[in-house]
Amino acid sequence: MLADGRRASSTTAGGVIVHELTADDVVAEREIRRYPPLDYLDVVIAWDQVGAWRVTCKCGWTGGEQPAVTETKYGTRNCPEDFEDRVFAPEWSAHVAPFAALTDLEQLVDQLRDVETRIADTVLLARRRRVLGTSRPRGRTVQARRPTAMEPPRTRHQRHR
Ligand SMILES: [Zn+2]
Repeated sequence: MLADGRRASSTTAGGVIVHELTADDVVAEREIRRYPPLDYLDVVIAWDQVGAWRVTCKCGWTGGEQPAVTETKYGTRNCPEDFEDRVFAPEWSAHVAPFAALTDLEQLVDQLRDVETRIADTVLLARRRRVLGTSRPRGRTVQARRPTAMEPPRTRHQRHR
């Protein structure tokens, strides 16, 4: 979060990067990186303009906020890693948990499709080898033709009746 309310989502050597240009940026002679022919630009905002760090999502959700503090060693105002791990990471995990569940569901559906394909292939193979009969209008889609102890084997004549 910048002093002027803008949000930056990436950092560079001299500070953070935003993709919208304001009159203040021009007045302050901030570094502007243009990427022709795309209508796209980076403005480098100095570290002293970084007010706070906040975890956000593209959907609009925002989590906790941490005031930005200047690191004496480098003069930057990066979000401390331990804060990211301790505060932001659990909030983020909780936010994306429902989506993670959806991913699990998608994987299960994929597995089910694989099993269905394998069953269909195996049924086809079994029919070719005449282990299974073909489906009939009045009953089950698959009719077992394997003889069992309970039921004597049927003859070819009976099968086609
Ligand atoms: Zn979200």
